[in-house]
Amino acid sequence: MEPGDLPLPADRHVFRYCPQCRTEMGRRLDGGSERPACPACGLVQYLNPAPAAGIVLLREGRVCLVKRRFEPKRGQWSLPSGFMEWDEAPATTARRETLEETGLEVELTGLYAVEQGLLPPDTPVVVVFYVARETGGSLEAGDDAEEAGFYALDELPGPLAFAAHRRVLARLGEDLRAHGRPLVARERP
Ligand SMILES: [Zn+2]
Repeated sequence: MEPGDLPLPADRHVFRYCPQCRTEMGRRLDGGSERPACPACGLVQYLNPAPAAGIVLLREGRVCLVKRRFEPKRGQWSLPSGFMEWDEAPATTARRETLEETGLEVELTGLYAVEQGLLPPDTPVVVVFYVARETGGSLEAGDDAEEAGFYALDELPGPLAFAAHRRVLARLGEDLRAHGRPLVARERP
């Protein structure tokens, strides 16, 4: 993805009034970019993508997917994943979201992919995907997943919710064909 492929921050993401002193926000050049800024107290609003983490988990060559219970993309499928909490490391998020959505406890065996994406309608995200291995629990959809299961790469349920997840699944298919397993980041040329 190139700069400009994602929409500029929509008005709804921009503070209208300063959250510190309630003055109406203006704009100021800061670090080479014009950013929302408070003319009274100097607060600058930095608009950043939201970080998320997810997993690639295989069981006998089938990949774990969940069906989304809520909007956006309700009823569509994705890899187990979710937004990082304030105090989490990405790996912690990946394990927590997996447990919440699938009932499975996992350990992470390597970094698989880092993808830029867009949560509709206009929230840019960065998703860190890990390869995972089951260590416990039992498969049961929960939290914001309506279904959870393992699916053959050539018989995936659809539609898949996110382009970033489709790219990861495409890479996984190539890895399985060429190597019989997902190659983690340090194994890639
Ligand atoms: Zn202010």
